[in-house]
Amino acid sequence: MSYLTRTLTSALLFILLLAGCSTSEPATEASAEEENQQPILIQGPMPIEAENFAERLENVEEEESGTFVFYKGTVDDYPVIVMKTGKGMENTAAATALAIEKFNPAAIINQGTSGGHDPDLNVFDIVLGERTVNLGSLKTGNREDGEGITPTEWIPMDLMASEGSAGEDPDAENIRYFEGDKDLLEAAQAVKETHKEGKVVEGTIGSADVWNNEVDRIQWFHENFGSSVEEMEGAAGAQIAKAYDTPYLGIRILSNNKTNGGEYNPETAASNQDYVYEVVKEYIKTK
Ligand code: SAH
Repeated sequence: MSYLTRTLTSALLFILLLAGCSTSEPATEASAEEENQQPILIQGPMPIEAENFAERLENVEEEESGTFVFYKGTVDDYPVIVMKTGKGMENTAAATALAIEKFNPAAIINQGTSGGHDPDLNVFDIVLGERTVNLGSLKTGNREDGEGITPTEWIPMDLMASEGSAGEDPDAENIRYFEGDKDLLEAAQAVKETHKEGKVVEGTIGSADVWNNEVDRIQWFHENFGSSVEEMEGAAGAQIAKAYDTPYLGIRILSNNKTNGGEYNPETAASNQDYVYEVVKEYIKTK
Protein backbone atom coordinates (compact mmCIF):
# COMPACT_ATOMS: atom_id res chain seq x y z
CA MET A 1 0.00 0.00 0.00
CA SER A 2 1.39 3.39 -0.94
CA TYR A 3 1.64 6.20 1.61
CA LEU A 4 -1.12 8.07 -0.25
CA THR A 5 -3.51 5.06 -0.19
CA ARG A 6 -2.90 4.56 3.53
CA THR A 7 -3.53 8.24 4.31
CA LEU A 8 -6.71 8.21 2.22
CA THR A 9 -7.92 4.99 3.89
CA SER A 10 -7.38 6.38 7.41
CA ALA A 11 -9.04 9.67 6.42
CA LEU A 12 -12.05 7.71 5.10
CA LEU A 13 -12.23 5.61 8.29
CA PHE A 14 -12.11 8.81 10.38
CA ILE A 15 -14.96 10.34 8.39
CA LEU A 16 -17.04 7.17 8.72
CA LEU A 17 -16.41 7.16 12.47
CA LEU A 18 -17.54 10.81 12.75
CA ALA A 19 -20.65 10.09 10.68
CA GLY A 20 -21.44 7.14 12.96
CA CYS A 21 -21.19 9.35 16.07
CA SER A 22 -23.33 12.13 14.67
CA THR A 23 -26.18 9.81 13.55
CA SER A 24 -26.40 8.18 16.98
CA GLU A 25 -26.90 11.55 18.75
CA PRO A 26 -30.39 12.53 17.52
CA ALA A 27 -31.61 8.96 18.17
CA THR A 28 -30.63 9.25 21.86
CA GLU A 29 -32.31 12.67 22.13
CA ALA A 30 -35.54 11.38 20.58
CA SER A 31 -35.83 8.44 22.95
CA ALA A 32 -35.20 10.69 25.97
CA GLU A 33 -37.98 12.97 24.71
CA GLU A 34 -40.36 10.04 24.21
CA GLU A 35 -39.71 8.87 27.77
CA ASN A 36 -40.76 12.29 29.11
CA GLN A 37 -43.89 12.30 27.00
CA GLN A 38 -46.06 9.45 28.18
CA PRO A 39 -49.41 9.89 26.41
CA ILE A 40 -52.66 10.97 28.02
CA LEU A 41 -55.47 8.47 27.34
CA ILE A 42 -59.06 9.59 26.80
CA GLN A 43 -61.64 6.80 27.00
CA GLY A 44 -65.12 6.94 25.49
CA PRO A 45 -67.51 3.95 25.22
CA MET A 46 -69.76 4.70 22.24
CA PRO A 47 -68.84 6.33 18.88
CA ILE A 48 -70.67 9.54 19.93
CA GLU A 49 -68.58 9.54 23.12
CA ALA A 50 -65.15 9.23 21.44
CA GLU A 51 -65.19 10.44 17.85
CA ASN A 52 -65.72 14.14 18.54
CA PHE A 53 -62.47 14.25 20.54
CA ALA A 54 -60.65 11.98 18.04
CA GLU A 55 -61.49 14.46 15.25
CA ARG A 56 -59.75 17.25 17.16
CA LEU A 57 -56.44 15.36 17.43
CA GLU A 58 -53.56 16.31 15.15
CA ASN A 59 -51.31 13.82 13.32
CA VAL A 60 -53.77 10.98 13.96
CA GLU A 61 -52.96 7.33 13.35
CA GLU A 62 -55.61 4.68 13.94
CA GLU A 63 -54.86 1.34 15.57
CA GLU A 64 -57.24 -1.49 16.37
CA SER A 65 -57.03 -4.38 18.79
CA GLY A 66 -60.03 -6.69 19.10
CA THR A 67 -63.05 -4.39 19.07
CA PHE A 68 -61.08 -1.51 20.63
CA VAL A 69 -60.02 1.47 18.50
CA PHE A 70 -57.12 3.76 19.43
CA TYR A 71 -56.78 7.17 17.77
CA LYS A 72 -53.18 8.15 18.41
CA GLY A 73 -52.40 11.82 17.87
CA THR A 74 -51.34 15.04 19.55
CA VAL A 75 -52.86 18.04 21.31
CA ASP A 76 -50.55 21.09 21.51
CA ASP A 77 -47.71 18.79 20.36
CA TYR A 78 -48.29 16.44 23.32
CA PRO A 79 -49.22 12.78 22.66
CA VAL A 80 -52.89 12.05 23.35
CA ILE A 81 -54.67 8.77 22.56
CA VAL A 82 -58.45 8.62 22.29
CA MET A 83 -59.81 5.10 22.84
CA LYS A 84 -63.22 3.83 21.77
CA THR A 85 -63.71 1.11 24.39
CA GLY A 86 -67.24 -0.08 23.69
CA LYS A 87 -69.92 -0.04 26.39
CA GLY A 88 -69.81 -1.72 29.76
CA MET A 89 -67.50 -2.85 32.55
CA GLU A 90 -65.81 -5.78 30.78
CA ASN A 91 -64.87 -3.80 27.67
CA THR A 92 -63.56 -0.97 29.79
CA ALA A 93 -61.47 -3.15 32.10
CA ALA A 94 -59.90 -5.05 29.21
CA ALA A 95 -59.27 -1.93 27.12
CA THR A 96 -57.70 -0.15 30.10
CA ALA A 97 -55.28 -2.99 30.87
CA LEU A 98 -54.38 -3.33 27.20
CA ALA A 99 -53.78 0.40 26.79
CA ILE A 100 -51.63 0.62 29.92
CA GLU A 101 -49.45 -2.28 28.69
CA LYS A 102 -49.25 -0.90 25.13
CA PHE A 103 -48.78 2.83 25.76
CA ASN A 104 -47.59 3.35 29.36
CA PRO A 105 -49.86 6.41 29.76
CA ALA A 106 -49.18 9.35 32.11
CA ALA A 107 -52.88 9.54 32.94
CA ILE A 108 -56.32 8.27 31.91
CA ILE A 109 -59.57 10.22 31.65
CA ASN A 110 -62.70 8.08 31.37
CA GLN A 111 -65.54 10.21 30.00
CA GLY A 112 -68.98 10.03 28.45
CA THR A 113 -72.67 10.25 29.25
CA SER A 114 -74.50 9.25 32.44
CA GLY A 115 -77.85 9.17 34.18
CA GLY A 116 -78.48 11.47 37.16
CA HIS A 117 -78.95 10.12 40.69
CA ASP A 118 -78.90 13.58 42.25
CA PRO A 119 -82.11 15.58 41.58
CA ASP A 120 -80.10 18.84 41.78
CA LEU A 121 -78.19 17.87 38.63
CA ASN A 122 -79.66 18.53 35.18
CA VAL A 123 -79.00 17.21 31.68
CA PHE A 124 -75.76 18.93 30.42
CA ASP A 125 -74.32 19.29 33.96
CA ILE A 126 -70.93 17.56 34.38
CA VAL A 127 -69.69 15.49 37.34
CA LEU A 128 -65.94 15.27 38.07
CA GLY A 129 -65.39 11.89 39.70
CA GLU A 130 -63.81 12.71 43.03
CA ARG A 131 -64.76 9.09 43.68
CA THR A 132 -65.92 6.20 41.52
CA VAL A 133 -67.79 3.15 42.84
CA ASN A 134 -68.98 -0.19 41.42
CA LEU A 135 -72.78 -0.29 41.95
CA GLY A 136 -72.97 -3.93 40.85
CA SER A 137 -70.69 -5.22 43.59
CA LEU A 138 -73.33 -6.39 46.09
CA LYS A 139 -74.04 -9.21 48.53
CA THR A 140 -77.67 -10.29 49.06
CA GLY A 141 -79.20 -11.16 52.43
CA ASN A 142 -79.80 -14.78 53.50
CA ARG A 143 -83.24 -16.00 52.38
CA GLU A 144 -84.51 -19.52 52.06
CA ASP A 145 -86.56 -21.15 49.33
CA GLY A 146 -89.80 -19.20 48.82
CA GLU A 147 -88.72 -16.20 50.97
CA GLY A 148 -88.50 -13.85 47.99
CA ILE A 149 -85.95 -11.21 47.04
CA THR A 150 -85.36 -7.89 48.81
CA PRO A 151 -82.90 -5.69 46.91
CA THR A 152 -83.01 -2.85 49.47
CA GLU A 153 -81.45 -5.25 52.01
CA TRP A 154 -78.47 -5.97 49.77
CA ILE A 155 -75.15 -4.75 51.13
CA PRO A 156 -72.00 -3.54 49.39
CA MET A 157 -69.20 -5.99 48.68
CA ASP A 158 -65.55 -4.96 48.35
CA LEU A 159 -63.83 -7.38 45.99
CA MET A 160 -60.48 -5.86 46.85
CA ALA A 161 -60.71 -6.27 50.64
CA SER A 162 -58.67 -9.47 50.67
CA GLU A 163 -57.70 -12.48 48.58
CA GLY A 164 -60.08 -14.67 50.61
CA SER A 165 -63.80 -15.38 50.07
CA ALA A 166 -65.77 -12.12 49.72
CA GLY A 167 -68.91 -14.14 50.60
CA GLU A 168 -67.60 -15.09 54.06
CA ASP A 169 -65.31 -12.17 54.94
CA PRO A 170 -67.07 -9.45 57.03
CA ASP A 171 -64.23 -7.02 56.05
CA ALA A 172 -65.55 -7.27 52.49
CA GLU A 173 -68.92 -5.77 53.50
CA ASN A 174 -67.83 -2.23 52.72
CA ILE A 175 -68.13 0.16 49.82
CA ARG A 176 -64.93 0.38 47.76
CA TYR A 177 -64.39 3.90 46.43
CA PHE A 178 -61.67 4.65 43.87
CA GLU A 179 -60.27 8.17 44.36
CA GLY A 180 -59.94 10.46 41.33
CA ASP A 181 -56.39 11.71 40.71
CA LYS A 182 -55.69 15.08 42.39
CA ASP A 183 -53.72 16.65 39.49
CA LEU A 184 -56.31 15.68 36.89
CA LEU A 185 -59.03 16.99 39.18
CA GLU A 186 -57.17 20.30 39.59
CA ALA A 187 -56.83 20.69 35.81
CA ALA A 188 -60.57 19.98 35.42
CA GLN A 189 -61.48 22.48 38.14
CA ALA A 190 -59.32 25.17 36.52
CA VAL A 191 -61.37 25.11 33.29
CA LYS A 192 -64.89 24.71 34.74
CA GLU A 193 -65.94 28.06 33.24
CA THR A 194 -65.38 26.82 29.67
CA HIS A 195 -68.47 24.57 29.97
CA LYS A 196 -71.36 26.94 29.19
CA GLU A 197 -74.25 24.48 28.75
CA GLY A 198 -74.44 23.42 32.39
CA LYS A 199 -72.57 23.45 35.70
CA VAL A 200 -69.49 21.39 36.60
CA VAL A 201 -69.47 19.80 40.08
CA GLU A 202 -67.38 17.29 42.04
CA GLY A 203 -69.17 14.05 42.89
CA THR A 204 -69.39 10.27 42.96
CA ILE A 205 -69.68 8.27 39.75
CA GLY A 206 -71.42 4.88 40.11
CA SER A 207 -70.98 2.12 37.54
CA ALA A 208 -72.53 -1.26 36.68
CA ASP A 209 -73.75 -3.14 33.61
CA VAL A 210 -77.25 -1.98 34.56
CA TRP A 211 -79.52 0.81 33.36
CA ASN A 212 -81.67 1.77 36.36
CA ASN A 213 -85.10 3.20 35.57
CA GLU A 214 -86.69 2.59 38.99
CA VAL A 215 -86.59 5.94 40.77
CA ASP A 216 -86.76 4.35 44.24
CA ARG A 217 -83.77 2.16 43.41
CA ILE A 218 -81.89 5.20 42.03
CA GLN A 219 -82.63 7.04 45.28
CA TRP A 220 -81.44 4.03 47.29
CA PHE A 221 -78.05 4.18 45.54
CA HIS A 222 -77.92 7.97 45.95
CA GLU A 223 -78.54 7.65 49.71
CA ASN A 224 -76.47 4.53 50.45
CA PHE A 225 -73.54 4.93 48.04
CA GLY A 226 -73.64 8.73 47.61
CA SER A 227 -73.80 8.37 43.82
CA SER A 228 -74.30 11.58 41.82
CA VAL A 229 -74.67 9.75 38.48
CA GLU A 230 -74.64 6.24 37.04
CA GLU A 231 -72.95 4.87 33.93
CA MET A 232 -71.46 1.56 32.81
CA GLU A 233 -67.68 2.01 32.71
CA GLY A 234 -65.96 4.32 35.22
CA ALA A 235 -65.38 1.96 38.16
CA ALA A 236 -64.04 -0.81 35.89
CA GLY A 237 -61.37 1.50 34.44
CA ALA A 238 -60.62 2.95 37.89
CA GLN A 239 -59.99 -0.51 39.37
CA ILE A 240 -57.52 -1.44 36.63
CA ALA A 241 -55.80 1.97 36.68
CA LYS A 242 -55.34 1.52 40.44
CA ALA A 243 -53.84 -1.94 39.90
CA TYR A 244 -51.17 -0.30 37.72
CA ASP A 245 -50.91 2.91 39.80
CA THR A 246 -51.90 5.04 36.80
CA PRO A 247 -53.57 8.44 37.53
CA TYR A 248 -57.27 8.27 36.59
CA LEU A 249 -60.30 10.55 36.57
CA GLY A 250 -63.91 10.03 35.47
CA ILE A 251 -65.67 13.01 33.84
CA ARG A 252 -69.36 12.42 33.11
CA ILE A 253 -72.04 14.63 31.63
CA LEU A 254 -75.70 13.92 32.42
CA SER A 255 -77.51 12.77 29.28
CA ASN A 256 -80.62 11.91 31.31
CA ASN A 257 -81.96 12.20 34.85
CA LYS A 258 -84.96 10.12 35.80
CA THR A 259 -85.15 11.76 39.27
CA ASN A 260 -86.13 15.17 37.84
CA GLY A 261 -87.63 14.33 34.46
CA GLY A 262 -84.46 15.05 32.44
CA GLU A 263 -85.00 13.38 29.04
CA TYR A 264 -82.12 11.56 27.29
CA ASN A 265 -80.20 13.92 25.01
CA PRO A 266 -77.35 12.42 22.90
CA GLU A 267 -75.96 15.93 22.13
CA THR A 268 -74.48 15.89 25.63
CA ALA A 269 -71.77 13.42 24.51
CA ALA A 270 -70.11 15.98 22.21
CA SER A 271 -70.45 18.74 24.79
CA ASN A 272 -68.59 16.63 27.36
CA GLN A 273 -65.74 15.97 24.90
CA ASP A 274 -65.44 19.72 24.25
CA TYR A 275 -64.97 20.22 27.99
CA VAL A 276 -62.56 17.28 28.36
CA TYR A 277 -60.49 18.76 25.49
CA GLU A 278 -60.04 21.91 27.62
CA VAL A 279 -59.12 19.74 30.63
CA VAL A 280 -56.46 17.95 28.60
CA LYS A 281 -54.94 21.23 27.35
CA GLU A 282 -54.81 22.49 30.94
CA TYR A 283 -53.25 19.23 32.21
CA ILE A 284 -50.60 19.31 29.45
CA LYS A 285 -49.51 22.79 30.65
CA THR A 286 -48.56 21.27 34.01
CA LYS A 287 -46.46 18.48 32.41
N1 SAH B 1 -79.47 5.39 25.55
C1 SAH B 1 -78.70 4.74 24.53
C2 SAH B 1 -77.95 3.56 25.07
C3 SAH B 1 -76.85 3.90 25.87
S1 SAH B 1 -76.19 2.45 26.49
C4 SAH B 1 -79.62 4.19 23.51
O1 SAH B 1 -80.78 4.01 23.83
O2 SAH B 1 -79.13 3.93 22.44
C5 SAH B 1 -75.42 2.96 27.89
C6 SAH B 1 -74.28 3.88 27.72
O3 SAH B 1 -74.66 5.17 28.13
C7 SAH B 1 -73.16 3.43 28.62
O4 SAH B 1 -71.94 3.65 27.96
C8 SAH B 1 -73.34 4.28 29.86
O5 SAH B 1 -72.09 4.66 30.39
C9 SAH B 1 -74.12 5.50 29.40
N2 SAH B 1 -75.28 5.89 30.20
C10 SAH B 1 -75.94 7.06 30.02
N3 SAH B 1 -76.98 7.15 30.85
C11 SAH B 1 -77.01 6.01 31.59
C12 SAH B 1 -77.89 5.54 32.61
N4 SAH B 1 -78.93 6.23 33.02
N5 SAH B 1 -77.64 4.33 33.14
C13 SAH B 1 -76.61 3.60 32.70
N6 SAH B 1 -75.76 4.01 31.74
C14 SAH B 1 -75.94 5.21 31.17
